Formats: sequence, structure tokens, C-alpha cells
Amino acid sequence: MLLGGAGVFLAGAALFAWVRARAEAGRADTAERARDLLAQQLDRRMGELFSLQELSFLLAESLQVERIGEQVARYALRFLHADGALVILAEPGGGPLVVAAAEGDVARLAGQVISREAEGAALRAFHGGHIELLDGAAEPVLPGLAARTAAAAPLRAHGVALGVVAVTGHRRGPFTSEDLSLLSTVATHTAVVLANARFVEMVRRGKEEWETAFDALAEGVAVLGADGTIHRANTALARILEHPVEAIVGCPLPDLLRGSEGPVEGLVRTLAAGERGAPLLVRMGQGRLLRLTAAPVAEGRSAAGVVLVEDVTDQRALETQLIQNEKLAAVGQLVSGVAHELNNPLTSIAGLSELLVEQAKAPPEAREHLKVIRDQADRAGRIVRNLLTFARKGSSEERARVDLNDVATRTAQLVAYELRIRGVVLTEALAPAPVEVMGDRYELQSVVLNLLTNAVHAVTVARGDRDRRIVLATATAGGEACLTVSDNGDGVPAGQVPLLFTPFFTTKDPGEGTGLGLSISYGIAEAHGGRLEYAPGAEGGAAFTLRLPAAPAEAHAAPAPRRLLICDDDAKFLRTVRALLAPEAVSVDEAPPGPTGLERLDGGEWYLVLVQGRTEWPGRGPLALALLTDRPALRGRLLAALPPSLPGEAERFRRQGIRVVGLPFDVKELRAAVREAHPAG
Ligand code: ADP
Repeated sequence: MLLGGAGVFLAGAALFAWVRARAEAGRADTAERARDLLAQQLDRRMGELFSLQELSFLLAESLQVERIGEQVARYALRFLHADGALVILAEPGGGPLVVAAAEGDVARLAGQVISREAEGAALRAFHGGHIELLDGAAEPVLPGLAARTAAAAPLRAHGVALGVVAVTGHRRGPFTSEDLSLLSTVATHTAVVLANARFVEMVRRGKEEWETAFDALAEGVAVLGADGTIHRANTALARILEHPVEAIVGCPLPDLLRGSEGPVEGLVRTLAAGERGAPLLVRMGQGRLLRLTAAPVAEGRSAAGVVLVEDVTDQRALETQLIQNEKLAAVGQLVSGVAHELNNPLTSIAGLSELLVEQAKAPPEAREHLKVIRDQADRAGRIVRNLLTFARKGSSEERARVDLNDVATRTAQLVAYELRIRGVVLTEALAPAPVEVMGDRYELQSVVLNLLTNAVHAVTVARGDRDRRIVLATATAGGEACLTVSDNGDGVPAGQVPLLFTPFFTTKDPGEGTGLGLSISYGIAEAHGGRLEYAPGAEGGAAFTLRLPAAPAEAHAAPAPRRLLICDDDAKFLRTVRALLAPEAVSVDEAPPGPTGLERLDGGEWYLVLVQGRTEWPGRGPLALALLTDRPALRGRLLAALPPSLPGEAERFRRQGIRVVGLPFDVKELRAAVREAHPAG
């Protein structure tokens, strides 16, 4: 028993020892397991920490919203051992949500647009600002996306909901609280990076918009430092200053506007003092004029101010032209009144003195005096006609196709004698093809004659001993026909250039110049839709260019309606008719009876053909009747001048449809006949 008892005791002790040993072993096991568990957790935490750190680095480098979304989705999938991961972002300004990135088994959802009002745990997380966990619930993560288990964390920064990051289908079971805390950490971090990226994008866009607007300005803009250095410049400024933007940034503005240092320096000083100076005009090379307007910027900025640079060359030219036009209009009114009053007595003096000279009754001495009276009246008549042309500018009715080459050659012939006696060499540099414009040949010829006469005068009075040269050139370019008269005289002093086209401006001696030539020519150029310009000549002299719109390309222009042809070669008769018809709005041409004259007659459109009733066509009787027989189209357009002593002849003409006027002319009768033939006049 004792043994048995001892045995029992021993057995009990052994059992106890065994139990204790087992217990100790069990404790050791538990501790070991706990240690293992802790070690595993530590491992996992460390892994997560490193991964998070890696994600942080990647995100810190990326400022593109799409790229951030992709990286976050990829990492969420990996960290949280999920089957799928989504980054859903809200469009700024209250727009819908868009799946910006989707990884794993939800990859198909990338790009899907989700209404803000839609149902689902992700939407709840977005609106509520809390993490949402789905575990076997029936609720979807997003419309059309159900998951056994899912978690969604809001992306919020500075109180603004930016989106949601969601994971679906945990591979090891439901998402644990540790998973959720990790998801929350990722979401917080992502939201900050996203907010920054959006902010950077906003700044970039704002900068881009500002730069586009800055460069779209037609005016040059320079942002200046206190020392006048250009900090920023737009493309318009680069264009005005004829340097690329990169070349002007960093340069002092006064250096770039050379030739005007004083005032521009002053403008920079005004800006540096924080004041707004008065606009400044700066003259650049090639006659360009710039207007600088400066405005200081608020104190404490690196820039001192902004300078607006406008090229006002054209604007100024236009203003000057307007002033010129106004002056011309005023003078024109005055002149036309006076000229009209003078014209009638002058034509009577010219016509009647002509008749007296013809009548041959006066003694020779008186005839000489009469000729002087006639010539002077003619001259006065020409001046008056010029004045009328000037006053009438813009109303020239004679529009035909005119070749400026032809005008140039004919006018050059008119001054040939003058050139010869003054030892002036005229070079014609005419365009090889006709330089055609629509206009009045005589008016245009008077412009060229005026320019040539001025050029001859300029080279004749030029200082120093030099060859006297004039170049007469024509060209057609860009729809414009040009005729230039340039000389190697002394040119026009800069101060007188603005006065050139002003009526009565002359530097010639009294009696030599009226100062009307250029202003009349200017008026004629304008009446033809063109302009007359002055520029210093290549050889230091003057160059005047007449620019007119080139005639349209049609083969033939419409015939001029108001051209009168005098079929006669009697100088006195021609002169009288011209003098008497000067105030009428008709252009008078001449053709001698004979083959040349007939060619001329057939080559033009004449509304009226004037002949002397007594002129005979050898072997065929009166010229008027012969013309009508050969050219029936002239019926009603022939005007015959007959002395009253031949009433029978007058009657015969009338029967044939030929109009008749008395000879010597009665001013009123002749003009009435001319108007009657063309009542529109
Ligand atoms: P006018 O010849 O009667 O003086 P214009 O109107 O034709 O009148 O010319 C006005 C002025 O313009 C002239 O007096 C002269 O000073 C200047 N001018 C015109 N043509 C030339 C030229 N080719 N060279 C220099 N000066 C010129």
C-alpha cells in the first residue's frame, strides 16, 4: 500500500511534474507563438512602411493627376492584398465622378463616369468623409460593382472632397482594422498630393492663358525692373523692336530704343519712383514712331512697372492725312468759288481775242497785243482749270483705262526741250508691261508734268557741281500701279516735308511757283483712289511716287462716256473750242482730218465729234457728211460749226441728223449743244 501509496505518490509527482513540464512547455510555446506573431506583425508593418515610403517618393515626383491615380491604385492593390483597387476622382466645379484608375479585377471600370447622386459604399465614403467597410453586405461598392468584401476611403484635402480610393475582395478574408488604417493613411497622403497637383495644374493653366493673352496683344508690353531692364516682353514688342523675345529680355529698354535715350531714361526713372509718366513719343529708324505709356506696379514687387509700346506710325500718317484733307477741302471750296467766277470772263477774253486776231482787221501792232491778251488769257484759263481740278477732286468723271507708261513717255516728251536746255538727263525706267489704271489721262498727265517740272527745278538749283539727273520709273506690284519721279537735287529739308502737299506752300521765288502743283496733284491722286507720297531719293534728292489702284484685269474697260473729239487741225479753232469748253465736264481730244485722224476716231468711244462744217473731204464734199455716210453710228453724235452765212448748208446737215452751231462760236450756244448731246452732263 505504502509502496502502492508511494507509487501513487510517485505517479502523482510524476504526473504533476509532467503537467508542470507540459504547462511550462505550453507557456514557452505561447510565448514563442506570440513572439512569432509580433515578429510577423512587425515584418508586415515594416513592409507597409517601406511601401508607403516608396509610394510617397513616387507621388512626390509626379504632378500629373492621372499618373497619381494609377500609382495609388496599383499600390493599394498590393498593400491590401485586394482583388481590385479603384481611384475615383471628382471633376472640379461640382462635375460627376470619374474612375481615374482601376487595377486588378475591376480594371474594366477605368474611365467610367459616375453621377454624384449614384448609390454605393464608395459614394457614401465620398459624401460622408468616412471610411466605409463592406463585408458580405448586399450594397454595391459602385453602381454595377458588387463585392464580397470592400473598403472605401475618402480623398479630402483642405476640407474639399476630391474623390475616393476603394479596394475590393480581400484575398485572406475580410479587411481588418489594420487594413483600414493603412487605406486611410494612403488616402490622406494621396489627397494632399492630388490637391497639390491640381493647384500646380491651375497655376500652369493660368500662366499659359496669361502668356497667350500677353502675346496676343497687338501692342508691345515690357515688364521693367527698377533699372529699366526688361524682365518680360511679349511677341508684339519683339516684333516692334525687331529682335526675338529671348534677345530683348535682360536688356535695358532705353538701349533698345536707341536715338532717344534721354526721354526713355526719364520714363524709367519715373517708373522707379512709382509714378505714371505722360505718354512718350519715340522716333525710330525708317521714320517709325512709337508711343510709350508706362504704369508703375505696386511697391514690393521685383518689377518697377509695365510699359506699353505702340507703333503709331500709320495712325500718325492717317491723322496728318486727315488734317491735310480738311485743309484741302477748305481751300478747295474757296478756290472753286473764285475759279468759277473767273472762268467765264477768261474764256470770253480768250475766245474773243482769238476772233479779233483772226478777223485781220486790226493793225499789226494791235494784233500783236491781241495775241498777248489771248496767250495770257489762255494761261490764266489753264491756272483756273487747274484750280477747278483741285477743287473738284473726287468728282473726276473721266475714267478710262490709262497706261502710266504711256503717260510717262508723253509727259517726258513735253519737257524734252526744257531738259535739253538745262542739261538734265532723264532716264526712263518703265515697267516692260503696261501699267494700267482707271483714270483721267489728262489729270494724270498733269500730275506727272508737275512732278517732272519740280524735279527739273530742283536739279537746276541744286548746290554744288553735279550731273543733273532725273529718273522716271513705273511699276505694278500687289494690285498697285506706281509712277516715281526721283531726282538728284538737294531734296526736301525734313522740316518742310509735312508742308509739301499743303496748298500755297512754295520755296520758289515769287512768280516762279504758286505752291499749288503738289496739292493739286495730291487731290488728283486721291480722286483716283490713290495717293501721292514723298520720300528722300536714293541719291539724296527727292522721290515722289504716285500710287494708284491697278486697273482690273478685264481685257477692255468700259468706254469712257464723255469724250469729245474735234476732227480738225486748225490750232486756233482747237484752242478756241478748248477754251470755251473748259468748264464743261468733258474731255476734249483732237484728230486731224485724214487717215491718222480717222484711226483716232475709230479707236475711241466719242460721245460727240465736232467738225468745221466747211471742212471738205477731198473729192467727197463736206467732211461731216462723208463721215456720217461711212459711219452711220455717228448719227446724232456729229456737231458741225458753220458760219451763219451758210444757212442752206446748216439745213442740209440738220436733215442728216447732224447738230449745227454757229461760227464764230457763241459761248452759250456751243456749251448748250455740248450738254444737249449728252444731257447727263
Ligand atoms: P511750286 O512748284 O509752285 O512751288 P509745288 O506744290 O509743286 O508748288 O511744290 C511745293 C514745294 O515743294 C516747292 O516749292 C519745293 O519747295 C518743294 N518741292 C517740290 N518738288 C521738289 C523736288 N523735286 N525737290 C525738292 N523740293 C521739291
